[in-house]
Amino acid sequence: MLTAAEILSDTGLDHPDVKGRLSPVSPGSVPVKKFPFWIDLVLPSWIGAITTPSTIWVRARLLAIGGESLGRLIIHELVHTRQWREHGILGFLGHYVKDYFAARFRDRNGHRAAYRAISFESEAGAVAAAASGTVASGIPSRSL
Ligand SMILES: [Zn+2]
Repeated sequence: MLTAAEILSDTGLDHPDVKGRLSPVSPGSVPVKKFPFWIDLVLPSWIGAITTPSTIWVRARLLAIGGESLGRLIIHELVHTRQWREHGILGFLGHYVKDYFAARFRDRNGHRAAYRAISFESEAGAVAAAASGTVASGIPSRSL
């Protein structure tokens, strides 16, 4: 079983400070799996990964490419794992959907802007950006 810890180690993004931002989630306890092929076909192409409460699902092509961008993606998804655990399934989904539709109707700037306004996405993007020492300028474009 491939774990998030192995990917972070392979990509050099297993800094102690990153692990602190993910606590109490241990990357070694989170499996990373390829999307089933039918999900690969039906999901919009801009979605590279999805996190369910216990598993990170990633497009096969992104796993194959690897590198720092994959490491940042996994950190982003690990933040979502922590959020799932902190808020529970209904709490996470309710908060996520509320933020999205509030921004969608308030700002009327379309899907991408509403996605960036989701507080869980902002936090995940900021942690992932900080992990690689880049400026937290936005949300990774290939995650959900
Ligand atoms: Zn996300």
